[in-house]
Amino acid sequence: MIIYDNGDIILKVGLIRPVSLAKIREGWSEMKIIFHEKFCESDYADNGASMPGRMEAIMSALGSEPGFEIIRPEPAAEDTLLLAHTISYINMIRSDGPLYEMASLSAGGAAAAADIAVTGEPAFACIRPPGHHAARDSAWGSCVFSNMGIALLQLKRQRKIESAFVLDIDAHTGDGTKEVLSDWDRCTIFNPYAEDGESYIKAIETFIKSIPAVDIVGVCAGFDLYQKDLGKRLTTFDYYRIGFIMKRFAELTSKHKRFAILEGGYYLPDLGKNVLAFCQGFQ
Ligand SMILES: [Zn+2]
Repeated sequence: MIIYDNGDIILKVGLIRPVSLAKIREGWSEMKIIFHEKFCESDYADNGASMPGRMEAIMSALGSEPGFEIIRPEPAAEDTLLLAHTISYINMIRSDGPLYEMASLSAGGAAAAADIAVTGEPAFACIRPPGHHAARDSAWGSCVFSNMGIALLQLKRQRKIESAFVLDIDAHTGDGTKEVLSDWDRCTIFNPYAEDGESYIKAIETFIKSIPAVDIVGVCAGFDLYQKDLGKRLTTFDYYRIGFIMKRFAELTSKHKRFAILEGGYYLPDLGKNVLAFCQGFQ
């Protein structure tokens, strides 16, 4: 059961355990999940991220636990996309109508998560296509627009932030995010690498000690480093721990301001519980 922000729209996705509405209304602090049912459409592209059932797997898991409120995003407008991309690239994507519609909604979802986070409330954008391989003028690996880049640059344009820290926990390096944000000297991006889960988490803990206070923390949350996915490193509990570490880090350095956006993650049987574990740590 998914409760939308207006409180009366219920979306059923997959086999889920019902949640007591009363319990939620008793005063759970609800983490905002940015989601639109359009993201369940899988025919906008043909790649790992557009796989049928992927978003349903995540939303079913999030819907099985209380504590999450769903916010529907609006598509990012062209002037917002222009913060991260060239007009020729945007126009090229626009020539594929369904892809543009989905990708601009995804970028809008990331921007909405950052908008919420800057008020001090945590948010997770459950969106696709992902964005961390999207550069200013090109993209690869299922990505189209730089969701993280757009989310941060719109806050910067609005003078709501001057600095940021981005942790990318996808199995693949977020080369696009790095390129899009390369001119911004007060933005630090970290893509950890380690042979096993324990060292991976250590690497994150060690790196963040070197980060001074920032205005916001963003996580490019890919789940393909999971032990049964491509990267074969992390457990479900590791995702909880990473979420929790970033929550604590944000409390100490960015006045609680933190958000995460979905990147990769392709092992559908456990994808939902991994996203849920991350969100429960991050919440
Ligand atoms: Zn990946």
